[in-house]
Amino acid sequence: TQGPAWIGIDLGTSGCRAVAIDDAGRELACARTCLAEPLSPAPGRHEQDPELWWQAVLDTLTQLGAALPDREPVSICVDATSATLLLTTPDGEPCGPALMYNDRRALSEAAAIDRAAPTESPACGPSASLAKLLHLIGRYPQGTPALALHQADWIIGRLTGHHGVSDWNNALKLGYDAEHLRWPDWVSALIPEGIRLPQVVAPGDPIGTLDATLANRLGWRSPVQVLAGTTDSTAAVIAAGARQPGDAVTCLGSTLVLKILSERPVTASAYGIYSHRFGDAWLVGGASNSGGAVLRRYFSDTEIVSLSLGIDPKRPSGLDYYPLIGPGERFPRNDPDLAPRLSPRPSEPRDFLHALLEGIARIEAEGYARLAELGAPPPRRIASIGGGAANPTWTAMRTRILGIPVMSAEHQDAAYGAALLALHRSLALDAV
Ligand code: ADP
Repeated sequence: TQGPAWIGIDLGTSGCRAVAIDDAGRELACARTCLAEPLSPAPGRHEQDPELWWQAVLDTLTQLGAALPDREPVSICVDATSATLLLTTPDGEPCGPALMYNDRRALSEAAAIDRAAPTESPACGPSASLAKLLHLIGRYPQGTPALALHQADWIIGRLTGHHGVSDWNNALKLGYDAEHLRWPDWVSALIPEGIRLPQVVAPGDPIGTLDATLANRLGWRSPVQVLAGTTDSTAAVIAAGARQPGDAVTCLGSTLVLKILSERPVTASAYGIYSHRFGDAWLVGGASNSGGAVLRRYFSDTEIVSLSLGIDPKRPSGLDYYPLIGPGERFPRNDPDLAPRLSPRPSEPRDFLHALLEGIARIEAEGYARLAELGAPPPRRIASIGGGAANPTWTAMRTRILGIPVMSAEHQDAAYGAALLALHRSLALDAV
């Protein structure tokens, strides 16, 4: 054979992607399978049959295996959406559809959690996995044993035949205390008898070996280790190359999401700021309602590309925008009534875009300043991911406004981050 390979699998809502890398982190092959849209039986309700995920993972691994005829996979790591949750029987058979990350029906459960949880808990709110779990439990026959599993946990269970293990990152919004590495008493008190919370281990810890029948089918002869995974957004940060405190990753997608590695955790629920354990460090994050969705309201992606070419990133626009698609902001300003500021509007579309890009860049700078004020380090360099990362004019403008190196991340793919986690077996990547 030509040597070993390490595999990362990213399961998102639109599909499954897998990447194989060599021991130097070079991409050897990738594969992808689309998933059908989750069902939405009523407004605010989003669910999916977990068997569709499993089929997508199998199809993707089969494609990847075919693209790697001469490689022996060493280990596999899976990342997925932590706020997507399901209940299974003790041996991992789904008790019904999974509640998706954007399902908002668990309102009364979220209110009960608010009363029980410490104010700063990331498990508060109807989209956190804990509220979803309580909702699923409420519809499950009392006293019947069941397991609570995140999307990645369940896939790992299917890959190994060993169900009931999760990781620090996926378990954060289920209420797991990643600082003291235990389930807090207030969480256990909310869970009725018979329902088992997952055992939580470090991302990258070994969980089991790949099921022998499946390994055979894929043509892999040596045992393949399946390791504990992480969340999709943490995997994207690993992929983007964040390694040390001060390394930041800005996601310029529909919304503006900031993440920075810090020596200590920072939590400020008023701003929606919480921290994931990341090796020996912490990944602190906050999300603004500003972002690409505002650009898309006024411009197509092609217009953004062509108009950006005519903008001089060194020259200030002279306008002071706070771009939002509607009133209300959480971070960097916690003001539910904050009004979008998008005037005066220049007659030239190029000048309007200039002011919008600059406004979002200023919110980014304000965001990192807010995180620093709350205890995170100031950013020393920023890797950008998401649709806006491909815009060199914007990158140059952000470099000027933020005053530190800003670049487009070389790897944007969460599956690549999961593959790096499989290779290093730990989030403490700088130690390797
Ligand atoms: P998400 O996954 O959050 O929906 P993406 O990462 O796919 O978002 O990014 C889409 C966003 O990127 C859109 O809101 C779009 O306006 C913005 N976008 C696309 N191309 C560019 C560009 N060249 N410059 C700036 N923004 C862009």
